[in-house]
Amino acid sequence: MKAIRFAGAGQPLNLETVPDPEPGPGWVVVDIEAAGLCHSDLHIMSGMDLGDLTVKSPVTLGHEGAGVISAIGDGVTDFAVGDRVGIALVTHPVEAARFAPGVGHDGAFAERELAHVSTLVRIPDDVTFAEAAVATDSVATAYHAVRAAGSVRRGSTVGIIGLGGLGLNGVRIAHLLGATVYGVDINPAAHGPALEAGATACFRDAGQLAARQPDVIVDFAGVDTTVASAVQSVRPGGTVVLVGLGAPVASIPVASLVMRNVRLVGSLGASKDELGEVYDLIASGALKPAVQEVPFTELPAAMDRLARGEVRGRLYTRPRADQRVEVGAV
Ligand code: NAD
Ligand code: ZN
Repeated sequence: MKAIRFAGAGQPLNLETVPDPEPGPGWVVVDIEAAGLCHSDLHIMSGMDLGDLTVKSPVTLGHEGAGVISAIGDGVTDFAVGDRVGIALVTHPVEAARFAPGVGHDGAFAERELAHVSTLVRIPDDVTFAEAAVATDSVATAYHAVRAAGSVRRGSTVGIIGLGGLGLNGVRIAHLLGATVYGVDINPAAHGPALEAGATACFRDAGQLAARQPDVIVDFAGVDTTVASAVQSVRPGGTVVLVGLGAPVASIPVASLVMRNVRLVGSLGASKDELGEVYDLIASGALKPAVQEVPFTELPAAMDRLARGEVRGRLYTRPRADQRVEVGAV
C-alpha cells in the first residue's frame, strides 16, 4: 500500500510502498477514507520534544484518521468488517492514553492504518469521513479544552487565542455552550470565519482580551507572548487552558498568576466518549467543521501552506482517492 513516510527531523516526506498491515489480537485494519493535517505534524517534522511521547522512526504520520474496517484481529467482537469508524486519540482519562497513532505507531497518511479496538468510535450516518477524521483531534481536542478543562458554561466570557484548525472549533463549541466568545489571531483573515462561528468580536493581539476580563482563555497558539497575555488578561480567579504547542518554552508573569489566583492548565486531546459526543453534535448540524481537501500526493506542499499560516479551517486528504499514484519523493 501507499504511505507518506517521515524518517526523522529535517528529512523530506516520502511517498513509499509499504507492506499491508496485518491486525494482531485486539487490532483492526481501517481503510482510510480521510485523514486530517494537524499543526502538530509540523512540530513532529521539526523534531520538537513531545515530552513522554516518542516518535517512531521511520513513521507514517497522520493522527486524524477515519474510514472503513477491512480486517479484524482475534478477540475483536464489538466491531465488524464494513463498519465506518473514527480512530480516537484517547488521552482522557490520562491513564487510558496508551496509543498514539501517527506518532508512536504508523498513522493515517496511508491507504490503511492499524487501530486498536479500544480507540474506535462509530461514525453516525450523517457525518462524512472528512468530518469524522478531523473531529478526532481538531474538534474533540477543542471540545475537551473548552468544556472539560475550561469548564465553560452558559454565561461564561471566553477568549479563544489562535483561530486555526482547532481554535475555530473552540469558538463554535464555546458559543454552543452559551458563552460570549472573543477570538484572537495575528492573522486577520482568520477573524471572519470566527465571527461566523459565533465570536462576538476578534482581535489581533491577545492583550486586547484584558478589557473583556474573560472567565476562561483557551490558548490554541501556545507561543511565549500569548501565554503571558492570557495569564495577564483573564479575570482574577479565572482559568487559562493551554493547548497550543507553538513554543517549547514560555515565560509566565509570576505576579499576575499568583496575585490574581489564576489557574493555568494544560490540555491534551480528549476521551473516546467526548469524540462520540462531538460526532453527535456534527450529526445534529449544530457543529460543522470547516474542511478543505488536498490531493494525497500534494500533502507535503499543503504542510508548507499550514506552516506559513495560509490555511483556514482544517485540511484533509483521501489516501485512497487515487490508487494509481507514483511512488517516490513528493
Ligand atoms: P493551525 O496552524 O491550524 O492554527 C494556528 C492558528 O494560530 C493560526 O490561525 C495562526 O495565525 C494563529 N497564531 C499563531 N501565532 C499566534 C499569535 N501569536 N497570536 C494569535 N494567534 C496566533 O494549527 P492547529 O492545527 O489548530 O494547532 C494549533 C496548536 O495546537 C499547534 O501548536 C498544535 O501543535 C497544537 N495541538 C495541540 C493539541 C493538544 O491536544 N494539546 C492537539 C492538536 C494540536
Ligand atoms: Zn493534532
